[in-house]
This record gives sequence, structure tokens and C-alpha cells, in this order.
Amino acid sequence: MSGGIVRGLSPVGERSLIEQIRRRVRVGPSVVTGIGDDCAVLRVPPGHQLLVTTDFTLENVHFRREWHPPEVVGWRCLTRGLSDIAAMGGEPRAAFLSMALDRGVSQKWVNRFVAGLVEAAEEFRVPLAGGDTAQSAGGIQADIVVVGSVPKGTAVLRTGARPGNQIYATGELGGSAAAIARMREGRVRAADYERHFHPVARVEVGRWLRRRGLASAMIDVSDGLSTDLEHICEESGVGAEIEVAAIPRARVGRPVHQVDFDLALLGGEDYELLFTSAKKIPANVAGVPVTRVGQIVRKRGMVLIEASGNRRRLLARGWEHFKSDS
Ligand code: ADP
Ligand code: MG
Repeated sequence: MSGGIVRGLSPVGERSLIEQIRRRVRVGPSVVTGIGDDCAVLRVPPGHQLLVTTDFTLENVHFRREWHPPEVVGWRCLTRGLSDIAAMGGEPRAAFLSMALDRGVSQKWVNRFVAGLVEAAEEFRVPLAGGDTAQSAGGIQADIVVVGSVPKGTAVLRTGARPGNQIYATGELGGSAAAIARMREGRVRAADYERHFHPVARVEVGRWLRRRGLASAMIDVSDGLSTDLEHICEESGVGAEIEVAAIPRARVGRPVHQVDFDLALLGGEDYELLFTSAKKIPANVAGVPVTRVGQIVRKRGMVLIEASGNRRRLLARGWEHFKSDS
């Protein structure tokens, strides 16, 4: 419970909210003690190292109440954390949810948000093992913490890309950004923009690559291909060449069409994996398409190779959230 300088949620309201969450949550083998005590007690497999990631989900930055149903906000909230665990090749073990809500947020909204989050938790068998609940000074803010693990020394880092490695991406890119662009103009059907409304963290692909030692470096695409690739390049001290024609552009909308190259290159929040490898990777891993999009080179900086053979400098132009123009 958090009192703080503003009056907190009434103790009764907070208790019943936590009770409701607790009733919906299943414990898993990693959780010795979950919701209800001062700390969760987790079991870590012998010989494993812990992975810990934390991600904000902020109203009007990551979602809008008028655009995103509460279940979608809850599902995406946990997906952000699971995707980071996936990008290390990790096994998710437990999740923690901190929530701040203003007085105007209805119980129904919260219930539906929790339902979406719990649905993702069950799909990925990661128990919600604790959190915190407080009143915000305005709007809805959530923070998800996901704890995962990998066998000692096997986490796939951003630092391992080497010249000559090929660059691969899972799934399709730009679909999430396309949904936001479209929603500025009017209503969209969630089913036409699956990757935005129901992104699935690539945990299985990450685990598959880590077990076989196939990925030399890996990151999840949360800020857009160009920005996230730059993180790998910077951390590994290398450069990259991307072939424009090879980028798997998302198919979205109605009628279905491929998104523009710009969106596929720059759009964020697709939660696909971007990784490098010295080996040839199958076109399909754990049921997910994998596409080679370029290669790592010695010379620093990123280059875009167009279908004509033209070379252009690729700059990391990150994913801009929709806050700035609201
Ligand atoms: P404390 O004051 O010791 O932090 P709280 O009253 O905040 O205890 O929380 C009681 C229990 O409920 C703790 O186990 C905590 O992890 C859990 N909890 C609180 N809020 C949430 C939430 N939003 N989601 C999941 N668990 C929660
Ligand atoms: Mg607390």
C-alpha cells in the first residue's frame, strides 16, 4: 500500500482490488509464495542466472483509453516485459504489476485490464506474483516487472554481433505503427491490426535460439528496426547493412496491404526479435517466420541497400510515441 502525499485509494478499495487480482492468478512452479506477503519468494532452478526487466505502460504515451480496450492494455503491458525476457533467450518465471490509478478510473476498467494481463500470464505460464497499487495524481500508470532465468552464462546479449554475421528478424515489422497511424484518422478493427492489439512475445523463438547457441546478439524490436539495430551495432562495436527489399513488411488493414518501408524500418512496438548469427537460420522457428534482412560489417554505421543497389545511410530514427501531438 502507498499513502504518499496525496490521499491513497481507500484501504478497503485497495484490499478488494488486490483480493480480486489474487483470486484470478494461478501460481506456478517458480513461485513459493506469491501475492499476500511482503515479498514474493521465488524458486530459481539450480545453475541459472536471473533476468529482471521493468517497463512502464503510461496512459497517453503507450495507450489511449479511447483507442485501446482495457484488455488490450493489460495484454500489451505484460507483453512488453515478456519480450525483453525473450530477447535474452530467457524463461519467464514471475511477473509483478505496479499500478497507479486516478479516482475516475472505474472498477470495470481495472477488472478488464487485469483480465487481459492475466490472459497473457496464463498463455505464457508466468505467474503474477505481486505488485503495488496506489492512487495517481491523474491518469493510469502501470509498471510491469518480469523475472526470468537462463542457464549460467547463456543469456544472449547485445554485444556479440561480429562482422560477417547475418541479421535476422522474426515475423513482420511496422504493423503496430500502422495501427496508430490509422487510428489518428478514425476507428480501426483490432482484427485487422493483430500485432498492435494482440502482440505475442517471441519467447519460444528466443529460447530456441539460446538453446542451440545460434544467436550472437539479440534485441526485441520495441523502438523500431533502425533504432534497435543501432543498439546492437553500438554495443557490439560494428556496423550493419540492411537490404530494403528483404525487410518483412507487415500486412495489415482491410483490404490487406503491406505497410510502407518507412513504417517497417522506423515503427516501434512490434515486439519481434532482431538477432545476428554466424549460422544459417531456418525460415521458420517455433512456428514463426524468420527473415534475413542484412549483414553485420566491420565499418561502423548503418547502410540501407535499395533494390537498385543504391546505398543510403540509415539513421536510427526512433519510434516517437503519440504523446507529442496529442
Ligand atoms: P505492502 O504494503 O507490504 O507493500 P501491499 O498492501 O502493497 O503490501 O500488497 C499486499 C500484497 O498484494 C503484496 O503481496 C503485493 O505484492 C500484492 N499486490 C499489491 N498490488 C498488486 C497488484 N497491482 N498486482 C499484483 N499484486 C499486488
Ligand atoms: Mg505495496
